[in-house]
Amino acid sequence: RQIELHQRDQSAELLQLARAFNQMINRLDRTFERQKQFVADASHELKTPLTVISSYAGMLKRWGRDDENVRDEAIEAISNEAQRLQNLTKSMLMLAQAEQEDWLKVESFDLVQLADETADMLHMTFQRMIRVHTGKQDVRLNGDKDKIRQLLVILLDNAIKYSKEAIDITLSVSKGVVRMSVADKGIGIPDDEMPFLFERFFRVDGARSRSTGGSGLGLSIAQRIVELHEGQIDVFSKHGKGTTITVALPQKK
Ligand code: ADP
Repeated sequence: RQIELHQRDQSAELLQLARAFNQMINRLDRTFERQKQFVADASHELKTPLTVISSYAGMLKRWGRDDENVRDEAIEAISNEAQRLQNLTKSMLMLAQAEQEDWLKVESFDLVQLADETADMLHMTFQRMIRVHTGKQDVRLNGDKDKIRQLLVILLDNAIKYSKEAIDITLSVSKGVVRMSVADKGIGIPDDEMPFLFERFFRVDGARSRSTGGSGLGLSIAQRIVELHEGQIDVFSKHGKGTTITVALPQKK
């Protein structure tokens, strides 16, 4: 009877092992599919500006010496597309780095000070008013300061790209949770596009975002940074009215 029991235990254990193994294979399968999709999408994204550059270079070669208009147009297009390639490769490297790393360089810092510094830096570059609101003197956070700065830059950069008025950053802390939001009164996001915002290379209305130089990688990087901090990121938006992105992070990691 004891042997029978033992056998039953063993087969239950085997069944459990088989289930765990299947789950692992499914996860690996999904990761592999995602990776394949990423390479395909990345190649496509890199191909578009390269095609433009090579066709304008061809025009320059053929007519550039004699036609001033062709020359100006080609130089403008080539430098724009080269800039786009630069932004794209920078974002791709950032994402690869954020996805590879599963560790954070944790330190204690004042998020209000970091937000003030980041807002000043972007204000100088883009001449846009960015207000920082906080009920407290300081909002301390244990986290990776460089990554949190990167997260703020991504959210502010989007708010600047997709709106024309002042941008509001609000910071607060309660019950061990730090909350940060970035709100703009810009073009907003259509409801049916909301589920895809965090997908890599996703842009609402490709043309609209392409003209602003967006790569569609910003929010994927932002989400990864929040994930590494075991936090939560959410988007609230009204098409035509504006967008607010909220981030909740555990104060101590
Ligand atoms: P991108 O580099 O194109 O801005 P993101 O991943 O940062 O890529 O954002 C994905 C898409 O979400 C953007 O292309 C844009 O259409 C939309 N989006 C993000 N933030 C905002 C915002 N603040 N206002 C309006 N649309 C936004």
